[in-house]
Amino acid sequence: MYLEFSQKLNKILEGVSNCLIIPHKNPDADALGSSMALFVFLTKLGKKVKVILPNSAPEYLEWMTNKPDVISYDENSEKTKRYLSNSQIIFALDFNSLKRIGSLGKEIENIKTPIIMIDHHESPEKFSTLFLSKPNIGSTCEIIYNIMKTINNKLIDKEIATYIYSGIITDTGSFRYPLTTAKTHNITSELFNKGINHTKIHENIYDNFSFERAHLLAVALKNLKKIDNLGVVYTILTKQELEKYNFKKGDTEGFVNFGLRIKGVNVSVIFIEDSNEDIIKISFRSKEKIDVSKFAKKYFSGGGHKNASGGFSNNSIIETEKKFIASVKEFFTR
Ligand code: 5GP
Ligand code: MN
Repeated sequence: MYLEFSQKLNKILEGVSNCLIIPHKNPDADALGSSMALFVFLTKLGKKVKVILPNSAPEYLEWMTNKPDVISYDENSEKTKRYLSNSQIIFALDFNSLKRIGSLGKEIENIKTPIIMIDHHESPEKFSTLFLSKPNIGSTCEIIYNIMKTINNKLIDKEIATYIYSGIITDTGSFRYPLTTAKTHNITSELFNKGINHTKIHENIYDNFSFERAHLLAVALKNLKKIDNLGVVYTILTKQELEKYNFKKGDTEGFVNFGLRIKGVNVSVIFIEDSNEDIIKISFRSKEKIDVSKFAKKYFSGGGHKNASGGFSNNSIIETEKKFIASVKEFFTR
């Protein structure tokens, strides 16, 4: 599988000198890790490479994107257009629907440039020339690592290994989610041999709360409610609460997971009022058998993975909460 794809990709790359890489909007460490790893790898192959983020990275991941060749579309729309028209190939990483890159999707919707999609989400949409979609793999970083390894293992250095490790640990919940496999651990072992400082990487990603972010977490935990007998908990962060604690993008990352620490809880949900887009962003997390992506799709225009999904609501907090409780009762009482 990797061999066949990598050979095809290698062939395409032979005739190409300008490459572009695009991860999804509100990028996480897997989206950025796979993009930055590929950025360094292609650069080492002698290509000119640019990375366009649909919007900028959260502060705690800025160490990954701090390079002049990485720009964000929301702050550089003119430059984006120039990069797009100069590129001969576009990599779409860690997403499989143009909706996931916001208004940047409109810019590449009708573009003639070949698009290579590499991703691990369910139900890929058709917008690419060549794609590798592997929903049974825990992270895009794992996939991109295998591709790079097949093309030229020698080019994988400590920097690339650091990005790959970052995406693997975040998307596998530090090796605990069901899609973590022996292969994932084998790759990790290879990354250690490339010289990564795993302790430092964990610190960079997880131990960098601002004081206010810690307080915001306290609010999210205090607001936690349960829907009796169904093993479902949820919490809400309102605009006012977010403002009070000086919310910055990425601050609520991981909050939803705390609900799952409660004995007997199988589903945890967080509702976050987004004052910029005037919607309520919803994150769903579940344990093993329970498929929250179906729930997200059915009731909240979303989707994602079986155990980690997202969606949104255009209604008020009160309406959304009401709809959620009714939907949970309908969906989980079966
Ligand atoms: P998060 O809760 O971290 O924002 O998202 C978890 C996963 O759910 C993401 O990896 C992504 O695949 C998926 N996801 C998040 N928001 C949406 C959405 O609005 N629509 C769809 N289809 N998937 C989403
Ligand atoms: Mn991912």
